[in-house]
Amino acid sequence: PPATNTDTTDRNQQLFDRAKRVIPGGVNSPVRAFKAVGGTPRFVQRAQGAYFWDANGKRHIDYIGSWGPMILGHGHPAVLEAVQKAALDGFSFGAPTEREVELAEAILERVPSMDMVRLVSSGTEAGMSAIRLARGATGRSKILKFEGCYHGHADALLVKAGSGLATFGNPTSAGVPPEVVQHTLVLEYNNILQLEEAFSLHGKELACLMIEPIAGNMNFVRASVPFMKRCRELCTQYGALFVFDEVMTGLRVAFGSAQSVYARSIPGFEPDMTVLGKVIGGGMPLAAFGGKRAVMEQLAPLGPVYQAGTLSGNPVATACGLATLKEIGKPGFYEDLGRKTQLLISGLQAEADKAGVDFCGDSEGGMFGFFLFKELPQNYAKVMTTDNARFNTLFHGLLDRGVYIAPALYEAGFMSAAHTDVDIAETVAAASEVFKLLSK
Ligand code: PMP
Repeated sequence: PPATNTDTTDRNQQLFDRAKRVIPGGVNSPVRAFKAVGGTPRFVQRAQGAYFWDANGKRHIDYIGSWGPMILGHGHPAVLEAVQKAALDGFSFGAPTEREVELAEAILERVPSMDMVRLVSSGTEAGMSAIRLARGATGRSKILKFEGCYHGHADALLVKAGSGLATFGNPTSAGVPPEVVQHTLVLEYNNILQLEEAFSLHGKELACLMIEPIAGNMNFVRASVPFMKRCRELCTQYGALFVFDEVMTGLRVAFGSAQSVYARSIPGFEPDMTVLGKVIGGGMPLAAFGGKRAVMEQLAPLGPVYQAGTLSGNPVATACGLATLKEIGKPGFYEDLGRKTQLLISGLQAEADKAGVDFCGDSEGGMFGFFLFKELPQNYAKVMTTDNARFNTLFHGLLDRGVYIAPALYEAGFMSAAHTDVDIAETVAAASEVFKLLSK
């Protein structure tokens, strides 16, 4: 596709041009700019159910759903009603409300590894706060993360692997001084040997190990069960806190989140802390972090670890989150969501196979990913060997046909309760045409 569109009737392009004059890159979060895939970002005019309409009035089947939060689809009537009612009672008070207590209780009921939870406004804030708390609670400075896992844009987490295991990371963003990431160790995902070596070198100085249990920021890559088990064992052995970043997977892949999926294979499995976002806010700015009581009681005002927020526990956001949690807690919700996600992935697989295109996909609950590979990749380096040009053909082919997937090959996809089997069949039919282009 052309990098710039000269069509003067294209409202998306007009808005993009206007946006670029006043907002860096025309967007308020980089991946929205279509930089990797080229072409014009779609400016959303409105959305309903499984669809959004862009500024040209064109309908798209939405498999991004605000990058995860819209698990019920757009404009669910019960959620809309709750939000409207809450707004009438006031937007923000900076004082506690009953609804915050209700939401905290509802979250703890779904993720019982947490005894207490604190509400914040974004996943970045939750991840950053969880790390400060882990450091404060353990009295240790070093943290461990994995390549390809994204935990928000806090300085200490914008880091890539150094040249060796004994060396710590390098910043991935300008504006992050090397000293700020000098305590962050970055390892390869699913690499048990490297993990063991890192713990034997640094385990006693580690405050925490943070992981995306099913990594949605390198498309869709699961931590293998043996790898997860080893992470848990080593954290326990060395006294590091095991932090699950479930901003994306939380209440999305299962009622009990990804930790409940691992507990099926590893009896008694639990992380020490959990970071949540996206679904718990149902599309409003809301996120959370929580864990065991003894750790959470280190937070201000009880303990010495400072953390705060003007809009934390916002009454309209908590109303949206609570209404969303109520809907997704209904019997059969995850079964139906998971069935549809599998229907999509198996449909795409069948069409790719027919066209002779290398393809593989995976899903859990309402989250999925697919690759133009024969086999599922196990780490970031492998994901990034994807042929960009082929992915871009797939992306634009689908977009032209009214199917909206992430405009970057390293992002996951999201199903909602509003998607119907007909939407999925339409998606598979569109993909079938695009696979034919890819097989030539
Ligand atoms: N952690 C994970 C796993 C995420 O996917 C994201 C965002 N995609 C974040 C943290 C950061 O959340 P936010 O964008 O709300 O700051």
